[in-house]
Amino acid sequence: MIQTKGYAVQDAKTDLAPWNFERREVGPHDVQFDIQFCGVCHSDLHQIKDDWGGSIFPMVPGHEIVGKVVKVGSHVKKFKVGDLAGTGCLVDSCRTCENCQEGLEQFCVNGSTATYNSLEQDHKTPTYGGYSNTIVVHEDFVLHVSDKLNLAAVAPLLCAGITTYSPLKHWKVGKGHKLAVLGLGGLGHMAVKFGVAFGAEVTVLSTSPKKEVDALKLGAHKFVVTKDAEQLKSVNGYFDFILDTVSAPHDLNLYLSLLRRDGVHICVGVPPTPYEVHAFSLIGGRKSLVGSLIGGLPETQEMLDYCAEHGIVSEIEMIDIKNIHEAYDRMTKGDVRYRFVIDMATL
Ligand code: NAP
Ligand code: ZN
Repeated sequence: MIQTKGYAVQDAKTDLAPWNFERREVGPHDVQFDIQFCGVCHSDLHQIKDDWGGSIFPMVPGHEIVGKVVKVGSHVKKFKVGDLAGTGCLVDSCRTCENCQEGLEQFCVNGSTATYNSLEQDHKTPTYGGYSNTIVVHEDFVLHVSDKLNLAAVAPLLCAGITTYSPLKHWKVGKGHKLAVLGLGGLGHMAVKFGVAFGAEVTVLSTSPKKEVDALKLGAHKFVVTKDAEQLKSVNGYFDFILDTVSAPHDLNLYLSLLRRDGVHICVGVPPTPYEVHAFSLIGGRKSLVGSLIGGLPETQEMLDYCAEHGIVSEIEMIDIKNIHEAYDRMTKGDVRYRFVIDMATL
């Protein structure tokens, strides 16, 4: 077994603290890479607090993982020692169901294995995430990372990047479309970058007036403060798409009224409590309420390659792992500019 250092929570009520654990030896198809940087996703916070129920403890969070390959199994073809590598939210799946066969492993019919707070395909062994010094992953779930980009700023692409890239691609959002990005945090700021790159007119809908300057710098064309009734009225019936990245409870009926006929509200944020949507919010204007979950492995590699080609990375604030609690506090308050990334050398 490989002795590993990390940060874990022991239950939903205690704080993250140093924790040593073991990872499996490198198998024939495995890649081991030492983790240099790990992004901090709001999903980490939801899961350590057991917001969604069913959390598995002890939990080592982290699914925006990048680093350098230190060992490869005898059958590994895609990677060699010294390569840069990344892993996102998935580390395995059944590989045989129709969704896996189509490269949509996130929708594995038999249950994909998440990078942490999950069980391996043996349905017994817990998985531990990227707030740690090293990781062992099957080569099919390891991604190539360009050495042209700032590695720390690439880490958030593995979740915040693919989670916003994938729905924009799926619903073919681009030229001629008016896209609203609801919530300017980790996911939201990547949605702005991709929306702009794909040619849409992008509006940020935010509860934080102070983020306007940043939103425009990120390339957004408009900024609307959602707490300001007058500003909100000015975009009534305006958008073709809303990409909803909000992590806390909010009223969907209000935002659905901002869509034009046949408009689509795409949920990617996962607040702890269910939404209440009135049928009237959908039927008048034939609106769609849809959702999207991260992205499959082929599309994640496509997104990383697209980012390398177009020079797209996340806006990050690097932190020492000892300051993770302060980062979570700021995240809870919506004060993220726009992704915390842990420098794993501080572990
Ligand atoms: P984040 O960085 O904390 O950003 C969330 C943003 O939502 C905040 O910055 C804030 O933006 C806005 N917000 C917060 N509270 C709000 C409220 N009460 N009303 C309206 N807006 C509010 O979080 P993240 O890492 O981007 O993650 C966002 C959500 O996506 C989380 O629920 C996470 O679990 C989920 N997620 C889903 C997937 C998926 O596959 N679907 C993948 C990753 C994450 P403003 O200050 O601009 O209002
Ligand atoms: Zn995430």
